[in-house]
Amino acid sequence: DRVSRSFKVAVVGSGPGGFYTAHRILKQVPQSSIDMYEALPVPHGLVRFGVAPDHPEVKNVINTFDEVAENPNFRFIGNTSVGTFVTPGSKKADLEVADLAQHYDAILLAYGAHEDRVLGVPNEKSLRGVMAARSFVGFYNGLPSEQDLDVDLSKTDTAVVIGQGNVALDVARILLTPLEDLKKTDLTEKMIKILEKSTVKHVHVIGRRGPLEVAFTSKELREMLQLPGTTFHMDRNLLASEMERAGKSLDRPRKRLMGLLEKGIKESKPNQPKSWSLQFLRSPLEFSGDGKDGTLKAIKLGINRLEGEDNNRRAAATGAKEELECGLAFRSIGYKSVGIQGVPFDSRKGIVPNVDGKVIDENSNIVPGLYASGWLKRGPIGVIASTMADAYQTADTIISDWTRGEPMLDSLSSGGAPVLDILRSKGHKVVSYQDWKKIEQKEFEMGTRLGKPREKFVSVDEMLKAID
Ligand code: FAD
Repeated sequence: DRVSRSFKVAVVGSGPGGFYTAHRILKQVPQSSIDMYEALPVPHGLVRFGVAPDHPEVKNVINTFDEVAENPNFRFIGNTSVGTFVTPGSKKADLEVADLAQHYDAILLAYGAHEDRVLGVPNEKSLRGVMAARSFVGFYNGLPSEQDLDVDLSKTDTAVVIGQGNVALDVARILLTPLEDLKKTDLTEKMIKILEKSTVKHVHVIGRRGPLEVAFTSKELREMLQLPGTTFHMDRNLLASEMERAGKSLDRPRKRLMGLLEKGIKESKPNQPKSWSLQFLRSPLEFSGDGKDGTLKAIKLGINRLEGEDNNRRAAATGAKEELECGLAFRSIGYKSVGIQGVPFDSRKGIVPNVDGKVIDENSNIVPGLYASGWLKRGPIGVIASTMADAYQTADTIISDWTRGEPMLDSLSSGGAPVLDILRSKGHKVVSYQDWKKIEQKEFEMGTRLGKPREKFVSVDEMLKAID
């Protein structure tokens, strides 16, 4: 009977989706124990590698994760990837889901979304200066896999960001914030050196629909409007007509956002040394470059009009086009999860199909003992607070399945010890949470010397060396 015996759960991924689910299970099921597998030697996912360096308050959630990790029934197994991705050419994972299935009662998949959506327009992949916002964000936040990204901000004064969500505004803000301010954050020294040479002065943030359809939130917009020495431009007539059209149907957050835009237009100081703009009703058609060195020179945009019902308006091409000169373009149209071998995946929605976190297969049959949380469960949208809420939902599903005696994995329920023995016998280096704390301590020390909260190690080798 389950009530008296231990409950062994493996978690794949150490971002908010994994940590908050673990938090809830450990709290509610006293005999549970959790092994959290993480591909990198360092934990916390996008809290470390996504959230902008000038948003340190957002990273305070790490304190809760540290508390979870202090629970004696919790074990971090870092530097250990689980599940080879189905994308052709993917590196073989250290372990497969089937290797874990023999040893745990339940497996929670929370490995996030590590690819990005592409526009699918000519020259997007071939020109220098066109890149994914995801790669750029990873680069400046020290994500090891993005450290070879070709980032040169010294060849142009104009950048465009395609997409109008919070990630797009993060990118625009990092490009325009005074360097003295960024130097006090944990932005990597490598990025600071690149920003020292930056000539970027104007950033256009482009969306295919109108102001009512933007995906960024008030906080991020307010930060953009407060950038020193930076003029803000947008089409005030479009804003007025869209607001009039929506009338009373606007909900409170939208109303606040539109109010902020109005205020931004009204209070914007003209002729500042830098500027940023929101450009609406524009879809990229093509990137064009300099034939000689293959560097981006301009982007061709198709002009749209909006069609369809309120709350569900679509951009339709008018046939008109325009060209915008720019030397840098960041596509910021969304992250994307990828399937792993042997696990159901809905590639249209980009999620592991599930009901309240319980994984189902293509015939909607439950896969016993397999669960999902975070961006992999819901799709790559939502802040940490919403990721927490749905991680708790998944935890409740797991807890209820366990206590009600629903079928789970048919395993020996031995937990991770045999798995760790196998890994070590292969010479694989496993990183514990204590090891991570040693890495972190060194990052703090390097940071102190540089007058910043931390200086991150940016390669897996450096991270592993820091533990020796
Ligand atoms: P992740 O945080 O991505 O965690 C997934 C983890 O799984 C990673 O550690 C990854 O290394 C690991 N992993 C991947 N593959 C494997 C594998 N095969 N085996 C083992 N481990 C694996 N939210 C806010 O509230 N405020 C913000 O300011 C904010 N800024 C953001 C900025 C950016 C650029 C982005 C992209 C997101 C931001 N968010 C912000 C949203 C927030 O980061 C997400 O809601 C949250 O991180 C999603 O959590 P997750 O656990 O699903 O995924």
